[in-house]
Amino acid sequence: MHIDARQIENNSRIEGDICIIGAGPSGLSIALEWMDTPYKVILLEGGGFDYDDKVQDLFKGKMTGHSNFPLKSARLHMFGGSSGHWGGMCSTFDPIAFQKRDWVPLSGWPFSQADLMPFYMRCQNYLDIQDMEFDSAVWQKKDPSLIPLPFTKNFWPKVWRFSGPTRFGPKYKDTIVNAKNIHLYTYANATDIKTNDTVNSVSEITVKNYAGKTHSVVAKHYILACCAIQNSRLLLASNKQAPKGLGNDNDLVGRHFMDHAEIHAGELWLNEPNSLKYYMYKPPRAKVELAMKPETQAQLQVLNGITSLSPLDLDKKIPPLSKTWSGDDPRKNWKDVSEADLKARGNKIKRFFESKEHQSFELVVRLEQAPNPNSRVLLDTELDTLGVPRAILHWDMTEVEKRSLRKIIELVGKEAGLSGFGRVKLDKSLRDEKNLDFPEHTSGGWHHMGTTRMDNDPKRGVTDGNGKVHGIDNLYTAGSSNFTTGGGVNPTLTVVAVSIRLSDHIKEKIKG
Ligand SMILES: Cc1cc2nc3c(=O)[nH]c(=O)nc-3n(C[C@H](O)[C@H](O)[C@H](O)COP(=O)(O)OP(=O)(O)OC[C@H]3O[C@@H](n4cnc5c(N)ncnc54)[C@H](O)[C@@H]3O)c2cc1C
Repeated sequence: MHIDARQIENNSRIEGDICIIGAGPSGLSIALEWMDTPYKVILLEGGGFDYDDKVQDLFKGKMTGHSNFPLKSARLHMFGGSSGHWGGMCSTFDPIAFQKRDWVPLSGWPFSQADLMPFYMRCQNYLDIQDMEFDSAVWQKKDPSLIPLPFTKNFWPKVWRFSGPTRFGPKYKDTIVNAKNIHLYTYANATDIKTNDTVNSVSEITVKNYAGKTHSVVAKHYILACCAIQNSRLLLASNKQAPKGLGNDNDLVGRHFMDHAEIHAGELWLNEPNSLKYYMYKPPRAKVELAMKPETQAQLQVLNGITSLSPLDLDKKIPPLSKTWSGDDPRKNWKDVSEADLKARGNKIKRFFESKEHQSFELVVRLEQAPNPNSRVLLDTELDTLGVPRAILHWDMTEVEKRSLRKIIELVGKEAGLSGFGRVKLDKSLRDEKNLDFPEHTSGGWHHMGTTRMDNDPKRGVTDGNGKVHGIDNLYTAGSSNFTTGGGVNPTLTVVAVSIRLSDHIKEKIKG
C-alpha cells in the first residue's frame, strides 16, 4: 500500500508493528524480508518516487577537513535511495576487516566474516548478482586467459562481482506498493524521535513534509535506515529528552565517520605491453584488483587498501571525480561523470574497457580509513526547511592512512621490479615520507560509514552487535553507519547483508 504523506489529513497518527525509516537498499531489503508476515510494517521515505529538488535540499550541509563530495548530491533523497546512482560494484569484506587488529584502534566487529557469510549469500537476489563466486582460482579455471599479476608475495587477486546496477526504486516499487502488510509513506521525513520519560524506549517518530503536514508514527520497533550522515544527524537532532541526542550518552553518535579515499597514487609501467584483461571492467565476468595480504598488513601495521589499474592514456583523459562531481545537483554530476568517461573512450561503449594492450596503467588505491573520533558528523545551527539542524561533515584522515597508502604503492613497485614485470612511478606526494599531504586528486568514495558504530561495549559503540542502540530497547540503526571498520571494498553488499541480519534478529526477538 502506498500513501503520499502530503495528501493525508494533518496530524495523522500512523500505527504499526515495525517502522522502517528510509527506503534505500538497507531499508528496502529489510521491508522485503518482512513481506507477507503477520506484522504491519510502516516504511517511511522522505522523498517520492521521482527526484524532487526541494526534498533533496534537506541533505545540504557543510564540510570541513578533507574535501569530499557535496553532502546534497552524494546521497539521493528518494524512494530507492542512492541505488539510483550507484555503480553496482560488489565484493565481500575480507576476514581481516572483521578482526581485532592491534595496530588499528577500535577495530574488531562483534561478529566474523564467517558469521556474516550466510547473509552475504542472501543478498544475491536483492542485488541481482549473477553468482556469488569470489574465488579467483575458479574464474581462472573458467577462462585461462584471466591471468593475475605475479605480485604474489604481498598481494592476492580480490574478485569483484557486479550488480546490474540494481536500481532499488524501479525494481521494488510495485512489489512494495502491492504488499498487503507494507504501508509505504512517501514524503514522510522523520524529523524527530520521541522517547518515554526515562529515555529507554522510543514512543513515536515525527514526520514532516514541505506541504506543511506533520504526522506521528507509533510502532513497537523502529529501524533507522537513512545511511550514515542522516542516521547520526537524526539521532543528534532528537535532543528534546536527551540533550546530547539519542544514544549519545558516551558522545559517540556521529563520530568515527569513514569513507574510502579513492587515490590516484602512481603509475605502473610494464616492460612489455599487456592488456591486463583480468583487471579490466567487463561484466558479467569477474574483475580483480590487487589486495594486500592480511599478513603483510599485520607485519607493516597498515590499513587495508585495494589497488585497481586502468590504462594510463585513458585515465589521463578523464577529469578527476572531485571536479566532475562537485555540484549540488546529483543528476548533473552523474551526467557529467558519464559524459566525461564516454568522451575519453571516443564515445565507445560507456564503462567497458577494450582488451587492448597497454604499456602503462594508473594505480588507483581505494583506502580503508581507521576509526577516528575526530572524523565526524555534527549539527549546524542552520536549519533545513523542516526545522532540522543541517549536518556538518568533518572528514579527517591522519598519518596512518598516508603511511598505509605509501606502503601499498611502494610494495606494488617492489613486486613489479622483483618479478621483472615493470616499474612503478610514485605520485610526487608519496616520495617524501614526511609529507603528510594526500595526492592532488584524492576524493571520497561515496561510501559514508561508521557514525553509529557497532560494539557490544557502550563505551566504544553506539549500537550493539545487532544494531540496537545501546540503552534504548526498541531503536535500531541499519546499514553502513553501523560498520565498526570500513574494509577495503565498496560497502553496499555488506550494507544489505548486515540489514538482513538485523531483520532476522528482530524477527527472533518478536517471536520470543
Ligand atoms: C555515485 C555513487 C556510486 C556508488 N557506487 C557504489 C558501488 O559501485 N558499490 C557499492 O557498494 N556502493 C556504491 N555506492 C554507495 C551506495 O550507494 C550506498 O552504499 C547505498 O546506497 C547505501 O544504502 P542505504 O539504504 O544504507 O542508504 P541510501 O541509499 O542513502 O538510502 C537511504 C534512504 O533513506 C531516506 N531518508 C534519509 N533521511 C530520511 C529521513 N529523515 N526520513 C525518511 N527517509 C529518509 C533517503 O531518501 C533514502 O531513500 C555509490 C554511491 C554513489 C553516490
